[in-house]
Amino acid sequence: MLTKDNVTIGIEWRFGPDWPGQRCGAKTRRGTACQRPANKKNGRCRLHGGASTGAKTQEGRARISAANLRHGMFTKDKLEKRRDNAAKGREIRKELRQMERELIAGGLLDKHWRDSFLS
Ligand SMILES: [Zn+2]
Repeated sequence: MLTKDNVTIGIEWRFGPDWPGQRCGAKTRRGTACQRPANKKNGRCRLHGGASTGAKTQEGRARISAANLRHGMFTKDKLEKRRDNAAKGREIRKELRQMERELIAGGLLDKHWRDSFLS
């Protein structure tokens, strides 16, 4: 049986202070970081959520998703909206460039018309 006393009397403990693996790191009741070896799947020990397999129901998963959402800047629909707006802007600028070229070619606009707005 491995106990705290075994370590103090010099019996090897696999997860002693020199163990190089990842620690759980959860905040303990003492206020310090948990030193137990972490589970590979979520980085927490068995006592701090490492045994949990996560939310299973649709409702539970939605609740966790909502709890972890900060500003939604990178959610699929917002990314899609920004992409659409950027494409619209490119389209409009393309059209404006085309109009400018036609007006210059038709002699209705001076070739250096932008310079009059600079000073
Ligand atoms: Zn822990």
